[in-house]
Amino acid sequence: MSKGKLSDKKACKLAKDEDIDALAALAIDAQFICKKCGRVSSNKKNLCKAQKL
Ligand SMILES: [Zn+2]
Repeated sequence: MSKGKLSDKKACKLAKDEDIDALAALAIDAQFICKKCGRVSSNKKNLCKAQKL
C-alpha cells in the first residue's frame, strides 16, 4: 500500500502514478467525478475539479 493518508491524495495524481490500489479504494461508493481528469471518488477532496455524479 502507498504511504500517507489516502484522504489527502488526489485520484488524478494517483492515476498518473498508476497507484491502482489507492484509486480503487477511492472509487468505492464514488459520488464525485473530476471534470478535468475523469477520475471518480467518494470524496470531492480527492479530485482537482470535482463534480457531483
Ligand atoms: Zn482531476
